[in-house]
Amino acid sequence: MMKVFRADLLTMKDRELFFIEDAAMLVNEDGKISEIIEFNKLSDEFLNEVSDLRPCLIMPGFIDTHVHYPQTNMRGSWSGSLLEWLMDVAYKEEGKFRNETYSKSIACSFLDNLLSNGTTTALSYGSSFKRADEILLETAYEKGYPLITGMVFMDREVDGNLKVDAQKAYDDHKTLSRKWRKKGRIDVALTPRFAISCTEEMLNVCKAIATDDNDIIIQTHLSESKEEIKKVRELFPESRYYLDVYLKYDLVKEKSIFAHCIHLSDYEWEILREKGSSISHCPSSNLFLGSGLFNYRKARDLKIKTGIGTDIGAGTSFSLLHNAELAYYIQKIQGYNMMPVDLFASITSGAAEVLGLQDQIGTLEKGKYADFVVIAPENDSNFLERYKTEENINEKLFLIIMSGQERLISRVYISGNLAYKKG
Ligand SMILES: [Zn+2]
Repeated sequence: MMKVFRADLLTMKDRELFFIEDAAMLVNEDGKISEIIEFNKLSDEFLNEVSDLRPCLIMPGFIDTHVHYPQTNMRGSWSGSLLEWLMDVAYKEEGKFRNETYSKSIACSFLDNLLSNGTTTALSYGSSFKRADEILLETAYEKGYPLITGMVFMDREVDGNLKVDAQKAYDDHKTLSRKWRKKGRIDVALTPRFAISCTEEMLNVCKAIATDDNDIIIQTHLSESKEEIKKVRELFPESRYYLDVYLKYDLVKEKSIFAHCIHLSDYEWEILREKGSSISHCPSSNLFLGSGLFNYRKARDLKIKTGIGTDIGAGTSFSLLHNAELAYYIQKIQGYNMMPVDLFASITSGAAEVLGLQDQIGTLEKGKYADFVVIAPENDSNFLERYKTEENINEKLFLIIMSGQERLISRVYISGNLAYKKG
């Protein structure tokens, strides 16, 4: 049976904002959009199927291109720099995922947090424990949540508890892949944490997996802090630049997603452009750890696909709206005014391109999944007063990003099904 949603609708079309006042969005039984029209053109046969979401605004669900499931419960933990924070806080928390009960409870809270913030697809790092990652995949599958994740590979410079030897990493990854690779809307990503935590043997395992399964998403960290870059130089003296480490093992590909990319050399920028790889920019995390200021303008000029990531738990908020707000500040302080359309794209259509899922998600249009967020300015009377003063959709969108956050989200739909409703 066809579902019909009635509301003002904002999406991206040909890299521009596209707005329809009082739209009807028709969704078929597969959870995909079959048509978007002005409501007054809707045929009478569908009038009984209408979910009236007025006076709200619907927009595509947000896409988180970088988040860590096992760090859900440690966001906002006081610490020093990136490497200190990893040792003092992150690895300690991740060690708890040896416990299945704990893993299950965090898997549920992780997905609840994503949903209540309007995130309808996430690319997440798993833990170092295969069972904890299976639990996350099973939970996402049961809830119908489109999640991409992979077991985190680390075999050095980490608590002994989290070390996985290269052969076991390979075997566990293969086991997860056999069951979960492209299962419905779930997928598995190859996830070496970063160069520092991987020996050459581990990187060779990654190379073997990525060669064998050449369509798999590869996610890792790159050039987040200067201290990290120095450490990479010590561990890989033969590599002139950080990215050379990944290049050497054929891990720089079209479906490779590098988080942070703050302190890149011109040479590394050029390699990313040439290979068609993507960047996940993590504003909250970069500010929280004091890692540095990402150069969005350069990524844009080089046409490198860039999406935003919350990077929970170095990032402090699951809200992509809030992270887009911080992305604006980070560029502003470097003298660049990000446009509302670019902020919006970096959490919707642009983020879908990063994941290679632009044919399925990222905009509201015919043939794509009906993943969408219902924005209700009425949820906050103080916000509403200000919102009403803006006539133009561009200005309204900017205002939502600047001061909206999750309190404006009243409902979230995935594949046309209600997945979250504000209490
Ligand atoms: Zn991260």
